[in-house]
Amino acid sequence: MSNTAITRSLFDQVMVPNYSPLAMIPVRGEGSRVWDQENNEYIDLTGGIAVNALGHAHPELVAALTEQAKKLWHMSNYFTNEPTLELARKIVANTFAEKVFFANSGAEANEAALKLARRYAFDHYGKEKTEIIAFHHGFHGRTFFTVSTGGHAPYSDGFGPKPADITHLDYNDLSGLEKAMSDKTCAVILEPLQGEGGVLPIDKAFAQGIRKLCDKYNALMILDEVQTGMGRTGSLFAYMDLGIIPDVLTSAKALGAGFPISAMLTLDKFAGSLTVGTHGTTFGGNPLACAVASKAFDLINNQAMLNGVKEKERLIRQALEEINNEYHAFEEIRGSGLLLGAVLNEQYQGRAKDLLLACADQGLLVLMAGASVIRFTPALNISDQLLEQAMDKFKQAVKVLAE
Ligand code: PLP
Repeated sequence: MSNTAITRSLFDQVMVPNYSPLAMIPVRGEGSRVWDQENNEYIDLTGGIAVNALGHAHPELVAALTEQAKKLWHMSNYFTNEPTLELARKIVANTFAEKVFFANSGAEANEAALKLARRYAFDHYGKEKTEIIAFHHGFHGRTFFTVSTGGHAPYSDGFGPKPADITHLDYNDLSGLEKAMSDKTCAVILEPLQGEGGVLPIDKAFAQGIRKLCDKYNALMILDEVQTGMGRTGSLFAYMDLGIIPDVLTSAKALGAGFPISAMLTLDKFAGSLTVGTHGTTFGGNPLACAVASKAFDLINNQAMLNGVKEKERLIRQALEEINNEYHAFEEIRGSGLLLGAVLNEQYQGRAKDLLLACADQGLLVLMAGASVIRFTPALNISDQLLEQAMDKFKQAVKVLAE
């Protein structure tokens, strides 16, 4: 008789081993709560790594998805469709963007951004202007171009020759960038707060300096807001608090609030370089994804939701401070809005995974950002009450770690 049970061990049997998921298998979610196969309940402060901005199974998103599912799923790029145009119109009306390209993942949006920068430079300045400047600890996705642009060489080593002409510099080091940039530079790509790299905030002066240098050398400033965008930092996009306007911005993760979709936003003068046939994707901008994203956009892009993010940031920071007064486990709490990192101090270096597992034992789901940082990226609409319960559980987990 064949074994038909769906268990964690089945993962090891049938899945490529590029992930190492927890032992429990979540089967159901509602708001910021999740249940596993045994009906154990968890509070979810992972938000699907900054994806589920409105929690699980939000009724209005479910309605948007099911309504569209009954109408039209997919047609191809031979046609456009209403949800795509509606979403693009909303993005253009509410950001610096004049044009939008839709794809399916953050990596694909960044791939499009990097290709656009190279093509724009080629069209206007000739074939020598190819250098892309990126930053150590940056993360831009796992396609070969984007992972090579990311600032963590082990992710891109061992796959043969890498895409050429990518320079990595130190984040927040403006003088280093000043020295490195030249007429050969076609783009500078960065996150306005490095998420995967350890929740590392940007200096405003650095962002503004990049803007000036990009103008000086006719290079595109590409802001990767895949993790920071769609309300995560308390503004619709993080650039809105930096006093700059990027040339290209990428969004994904929370854009679909759990349904896969990404977007590259840009200006008319750059968009013109992606003429018919230069770039494309089968599924990008499909009606299902755009219908969900369009509803999510309305729910996130309002002052009450964005103010709530800042309020909840205060709640988490205060709770972490209290926990730290008792257990002295963290040397720093950093980040912005609901993208926060608790950095373990010297005594607990490398033990973020232990703390994450201790949290799971308490019925709490959190993330890491490197081996020594616990990352919180809850749904933007998590209730204060649930957040307080979550921080109580976190305290218990820290206590276990400290014992
Ligand atoms: N860019 C940033 C800043 C990210 O945080 C991520 C994912 O974590 C990506 C790009 C890649 O997005 P995706 O995994 O959807 O390709």
